[in-house]
Amino acid sequence: MRIDLHTHSTASDGTDSPAELVAAAGAAELDVVAVTDHDTTAGWSEAVAARPSGVALVRGMEMSCTGRGDDGFPVAVHLLAYLFDPSHDAFAAERERLREERVWRILEMAARMSAAGLPVDGERIVDEAGPSVGRPHLARALIDAGIVPSIDAAFAGPLSRTSPYFVDKHDTRLSRAVDLVVASGGVAVVAHPRARARGRLLAVAEIRELAERGLGGVEVFHPDHTAADVDMLVRLARELDLVTTGSSDYHGTNKSVRLGDFTTPPDQFAAIEAAATGVPVVR
Ligand code: AMP
Ligand code: ZN
Ligand code: FE
Ligand code: FE
Repeated sequence: MRIDLHTHSTASDGTDSPAELVAAAGAAELDVVAVTDHDTTAGWSEAVAARPSGVALVRGMEMSCTGRGDDGFPVAVHLLAYLFDPSHDAFAAERERLREERVWRILEMAARMSAAGLPVDGERIVDEAGPSVGRPHLARALIDAGIVPSIDAAFAGPLSRTSPYFVDKHDTRLSRAVDLVVASGGVAVVAHPRARARGRLLAVAEIRELAERGLGGVEVFHPDHTAADVDMLVRLARELDLVTTGSSDYHGTNKSVRLGDFTTPPDQFAAIEAAATGVPVVR
């Protein structure tokens, strides 16, 4: 069984349409794939319709959150939400608010760049991006304008958190996000908790608190984690009785990782499916 529980489509900042994504999952001989676009379920219906018969589809999302960093200051954290009911009102409203924050933030960053003489058109980036615009869309515009040679260079330079163009958005408090996922029948899994290239790390004490609050799991096997990170997270998950997942965090050509490069153990996936009451796995 090959199970990849974290991928992105053109519904957010991946480059495969949802139909192309599930087809690619079939070609990569995955048995299970989760579509987890940032802050939106917009890719779900196309993925369901285009799903090859041999691939089970997990409808999910990656939610933009703010947690407590290991130094006590706020830190950006991603929360994977699986198999939740998309019609839960409070959760749907919060997703919409997050997408509005995304638009505002990209317009704001593009405006700062324009003011400094960089030729980027924020309105156009937002119009062409689809339902959930992100910094990778702005990275593409910077490449097209000849300002940076690659997406990595964009993230290391003008899009980095320390850049003068960087604008922070107002994401969901992590504890509230877990509450919303649980209330809508989903399973919440902290995404790449040790991915330190993104900045400071989420405090382990907060993972302990969230486990008491209904957090279901932690993403352990991930391209941004070292062997030491994996060891630490496996031990923590065992202690807190959390599921451990693995996933590629595939973004099409926006990142070099391939579907199925990192996978979830079948018993861990079974535990997620058994705990969810929102929507079923599509088989
Ligand atoms: P945003 O959600 O708009 O803040 O943009 C951050 C997203 O960009 C992350 O969730 C990743 O999916 C993606 N990302 C971050 N760093 C890179 C990178 N070096 N190359 C490609 N994508 C990246
Ligand atoms: Zn992304
Ligand atoms: Fe993420
Ligand atoms: Fe992701």
